[in-house]
Amino acid sequence: MDKKVILVAGAAGFIPSTLSEFYLKQGHIVLGLDNFITGSRSNVAILNQYKNFKFYECNIYESLPDFKNQKIDEIFSLASPASPVDFQVLPMEILRVNSEGTMHLLDLAMEKNAKFLEASTSEVYGDPEIHPQPEEYFGNVNTIGPRSCYDESKRYAEALTMNYHMHKNVNTRIVRIFNTYGPRMRPNDGRVIPNFINQALRGEDLIVYGDGSQTRSFCYVDDLVCALDIVMNSSCHTPVNIGNPDEYSIYECALKIIEVLHSKSKVVCNNNLPKDDPKKRKPDIRKLKSLASYEPQISFSEGMKRTAEYFKHLV
Ligand code: UDP
Repeated sequence: MDKKVILVAGAAGFIPSTLSEFYLKQGHIVLGLDNFITGSRSNVAILNQYKNFKFYECNIYESLPDFKNQKIDEIFSLASPASPVDFQVLPMEILRVNSEGTMHLLDLAMEKNAKFLEASTSEVYGDPEIHPQPEEYFGNVNTIGPRSCYDESKRYAEALTMNYHMHKNVNTRIVRIFNTYGPRMRPNDGRVIPNFINQALRGEDLIVYGDGSQTRSFCYVDDLVCALDIVMNSSCHTPVNIGNPDEYSIYECALKIIEVLHSKSKVVCNNNLPKDDPKKRKPDIRKLKSLASYEPQISFSEGMKRTAEYFKHLV
């Protein structure tokens, strides 16, 4: 296999660091970029053990490092904070990384004649009226709500990417990532899986927001990395959903985690669903499956066990 030079923006994050290690193990050269706003230095320490990894600490929305004499074959735009908790704390950074940051990466892709992949999100569907969500659905997004800094900047990032493809001939891809979990997630990330696993490990109540009837479909990170690789290696320029269609209500999800981890915790509903919290979410992944043979391999139970092992060693 040809050795490629792959740039990963957001390399200290949970999905991008797992993707980086996937490529490092294959012998490719990975250039990792991060400003550690939400990414972790321990993820970069793992990648630094590979001699084919090079790390650059930088704010991609301000400027990129000097890559003047550097060949680059592929660019993954994975740098945005993505937890609903981040939307409240880092709205300006999220808006800027997905607009100015994405543009800087697209300009670099144009200069280097590199393939470019924008990591968009199921959030572009907002609180969807169509279930499951196919790529043709335009979404139901509140442009000024508490999630809008992420939802709308990712919608803009998609538009930017598509227009660089159509008008500047950049070889682009767009994926829409659905809920993903696994080792290397931040324990205090605020998302449901780290919260529930940590509550179950400590024997505390699992706090369900609202009545728990809202649904999500959870994908284990290794399955997501395979999907990212498939799309980057395809010639599909329009958006592709990536995730696992295995759907659970949040209440069921809490019960399942208690069962899998043999925890004594109880489930408690706080009956306070955050504003604009999507009521249903499940990817239609027929388009992904049409690009290559793909089936998520890791079950919810197995994925939860592996993620819990990771969190156990952190405490
Ligand atoms: N949620 C919950 N308890 C928590 C964290 C989240 O019940 O401790 C709910 C949240 O309201 C949402 C779902 O779990 O309905 C998924 O939330 P998450 O923050 O993981 O991501 P989202 O899919 O909303 O972006």
